[in-house]
Amino acid sequence: MTTLAGLTDALRAGALPDGTSLASLGERMHARVAELYPLPRSLTGPGVRATLDLLGESLAGSATIERHEVPTGTRAHDWTITDEWTLRRAWLTDTSTGDVVVDTDVHTLHVVGYSTPVRATLSRDDLLPHLHTLPEAPDAIPYRTSYYHRTWGFCLTQRQLDGLGEGPFEVVVDADLGPGHMTYGEVLLPATVPPPEGEEAGEVLLSAHLCHPSLANDNLSGLVLVTELVRLLAGVPRRHAYRVVMAPGTVGAVLWLSRNADVLPRIRHGLVLTGLGGPGHLVYKRTRRGDRGVDAAVGHVVRRRGGEVRDYSPWGYDERQYNALGFDLPVGRLSRTPHNEYPEYHTSHDDLAHVTPAELTDALVALVEVVDVLENDGRPRNLAPYGEPQLGTRGIYPTTGGRAASDAVMAMLWTLAYADGDTSLLEVAARADLDFADIRTAAATLSGADLLDGLG
Ligand code: ZN
Repeated sequence: MTTLAGLTDALRAGALPDGTSLASLGERMHARVAELYPLPRSLTGPGVRATLDLLGESLAGSATIERHEVPTGTRAHDWTITDEWTLRRAWLTDTSTGDVVVDTDVHTLHVVGYSTPVRATLSRDDLLPHLHTLPEAPDAIPYRTSYYHRTWGFCLTQRQLDGLGEGPFEVVVDADLGPGHMTYGEVLLPATVPPPEGEEAGEVLLSAHLCHPSLANDNLSGLVLVTELVRLLAGVPRRHAYRVVMAPGTVGAVLWLSRNADVLPRIRHGLVLTGLGGPGHLVYKRTRRGDRGVDAAVGHVVRRRGGEVRDYSPWGYDERQYNALGFDLPVGRLSRTPHNEYPEYHTSHDDLAHVTPAELTDALVALVEVVDVLENDGRPRNLAPYGEPQLGTRGIYPTTGGRAASDAVMAMLWTLAYADGDTSLLEVAARADLDFADIRTAAATLSGADLLDGLG
């Protein structure tokens, strides 16, 4: 059986242990984004369930998604679960010409999320206040919702609005808005390596929001990546349990938190995953405290991959729920260019061309590297601390020359130099300016030659 270290090293070398290339892994994830893209997701409703169905199918054989249906009206801390919205179709027709102006069968963004049901014929003047465009991006349809203020509306491109006829207009929002349920999904991969006597296995929380309709980066990228990560982790031994929450943004995360008070003390590390398939380097947003294990682990991986680390702020995605004072969980956020900083954000231009197989794969490898740190970091002790031990006589000095060999030697020397039983391998990697995997490999080699102990 492959280990996580073996999986990480294989991915770093360009393929899965079974030989699947990174390119076909990327294509597979992108195809899944494409499958999910047209589903009419919202805070609640059939699009959310269909999304969980498809993600569940791609997990078949590895894990199952447990689906939770919580009745509307349920309290969750300061929130109340709002009515369920079931959209069948919404369209707008110019009756003078018969032209269909917009239709949600063409694009799910054409209706304001949570629009109240309506069937009416309106004059142009009465219709206009219900239309939303982006004048600064005249070819993009904006993403708009109105979850808590009851209204209806259509979203269209500025060019469509500029070409709008005189009407009157037939408007139809064929939807139900009323009592029902809020749906979220949860995956639990249990730990497989027994914890030390008297200890409980810790959990790693991975969270991705699933309430956005046809927007690929925000957040089909997060959903597909976390699903692929679960498939990979299901095949390797694990010290931590991995718990995935796929819930509507904000209220869904608060709802999950309100129903899992017993789980929270076991969460050792966590990540919100979003916006990982578009352009730009990786951006890690620290936890509120900024000094958690996940901050060091993800910070190292992201910096080594040319990315950027930012401090916490109480705005963004569901990290602000997990980090709220009452929970204070060690949950950071991994994205590429964050929300609001790319022009395609919350528009129809966040489409299947905006996310690429290569960016998805790069993010997946980064995530596996992070998990490698979380699972395999340790604080070993040098058993031959009186001078530099002879690596050659122990058969661990690379006999083939070249730069790779000297990197391996340097990784061993750095590890021996700092293995005082107190310094972590991650700290050694940071000092040595090497990837964690290089130090982890060096430590395993040294441990095999009885030069190091204290690795788990
Ligand atoms: Zn968003």
